[in-house]
Amino acid sequence: MSWSSGWPACPTSEIVTVVRSDGLRLPMRRQVAVMTKTLIDRTEAMGYDVNPDWTWGFACRPISGTNRPSNHSRGLAVDLNAPRNPYASASWHRRNARGTFPFGLRIVCDIPESVIRLWEANGWGWGGRYKTKPDPMHLEFEGTERDAAIITARLSPLTKPPTTSRPPTSGDPEVPYLESDRDRMIRIEEQLTGKVDGSLRHFIQDQDKATRKYLRGQIEEEGQVTRAGTLRAIVNQTEVIKAELDALFVKIKRLADRPPG
Ligand SMILES: [Zn+2]
Repeated sequence: MSWSSGWPACPTSEIVTVVRSDGLRLPMRRQVAVMTKTLIDRTEAMGYDVNPDWTWGFACRPISGTNRPSNHSRGLAVDLNAPRNPYASASWHRRNARGTFPFGLRIVCDIPESVIRLWEANGWGWGGRYKTKPDPMHLEFEGTERDAAIITARLSPLTKPPTTSRPPTSGDPEVPYLESDRDRMIRIEEQLTGKVDGSLRHFIQDQDKATRKYLRGQIEEEGQVTRAGTLRAIVNQTEVIKAELDALFVKIKRLADRPPG
């Protein structure tokens, strides 16, 4: 374990609050907070209602009746619907258990076996398996910090995550916003896409500008050619007229010089 375990090391600065829209506020160690949220979302999606008033996370306390720190004091444990899944001696559980039991264990527990399997498959130990004093409400993460990161990345949230990172909502100022690896990847991807789009837009605008400038130059050049041609034609025409006038002048002069007779 790399969780700096040990009593009385209650890592208050490492604790964040997992918040659900049903009113659940669950203080948990930040490295397992996103995973806890996803697992509770999935638990509810499997049909097991997690009551916000009966569900607890971080608590700085020893294991009941001992001097040893509970995993709740490390922010790695969750109690689900405590009154329905009591922490009691094996004999009490045997006396009071009714109906069906997860994994054939004779305990008072309303958590479906499929839900327990889900948590166990993701590295959480379940207290319902304790022999002398079953604690079926209790689930605790048993992996390392590295395991927590890997499992969190693997567990995709049930609902589509927000497409942009958002700050904590104003109604809940003390709740830190938890950005999962998946959220972070989506945010980075969007930023990159935005940059590529922006660059493309600029490139097209630049190309457009260059094309227009080139065409304008062409038109100006053609205009000059046209004007030059017109001038040349006018000059030519003028020379023709001048030559005709010269010829006419010579003819008039000759007539004027003829002796009268
Ligand atoms: Zn517990």
